[in-house]
Amino acid sequence: MNPNKRSAVIAGNWKMNLTRPQAKALIEEIKPLVAGAACGVVLCVPYTDLETALSAAAGSNIKIGAQNCHWEESGAFTGEISPAMLTELGAEYVILGHSERRQYFGDTDETVNKRLLAALEAGLKVILCVGETLSQREEGKTREVLSRQATAALAGVTASQLSNIIVAYEPIWAIGTGKTATAAQAGEGNAVVRATVAALYGGEAAEALTIQYGGSMKASNAAELLAQPDVDGGLIGGASLKAADFAAIVQAASR
Ligand code: PEP
Repeated sequence: MNPNKRSAVIAGNWKMNLTRPQAKALIEEIKPLVAGAACGVVLCVPYTDLETALSAAAGSNIKIGAQNCHWEESGAFTGEISPAMLTELGAEYVILGHSERRQYFGDTDETVNKRLLAALEAGLKVILCVGETLSQREEGKTREVLSRQATAALAGVTASQLSNIIVAYEPIWAIGTGKTATAAQAGEGNAVVRATVAALYGGEAAEALTIQYGGSMKASNAAELLAQPDVDGGLIGGASLKAADFAAIVQAASR
């Protein structure tokens, strides 16, 4: 991370885990452990946990987000949740374009872009995920994939809206696999994202953008990953479900 230009954000992605009592208990446990954090702390929880999480985190430095949203404000979209529904609850963040949404639920560069524009319009902060598969990496396409995904997702986003976006570089082969990218691979991926944003919005805007790394980040590897100049925090899956593990990553980002 470059502390002169950006502050780090550590965000947990709980995925489809934790009932409301479990959510409340975990946040109560995390709160004191991250109270002195010198980085942003966000928890992106299942829709059903949002209200509980917001009330458990009230008055603390923990911000709450969702893990997806639709692009329409309302209507006949059974099973979907609109950005306005999230802001009305008090949610501040939403993860968009997560590889699990792209892989299992048909999200494409186009739908990610639609969701992102609608989320920004509603006043949400977006954590936009981009990342290559193992075969794309092996075929030497990492740079091309990251640049394409970031460019497509940001279509129509103004320079001033960029300050409400965090990009998370998440190599798909490293998500939930226990296989972490090396610090150099994480740094390279993040640098590709920054260069893409620089080409679209100019160097100054790109330097100000928070770019996280995500993919099996944990207490034992966080410091090394976060030491990369272009890694400004992390999007944390598995390790965000254990208070001590998540807090240790927050502490590594606070140094
Ligand atoms: C994620 O889901 O965004 C993620 C990075 O998961 P994990 O940390 O478990 O690899």
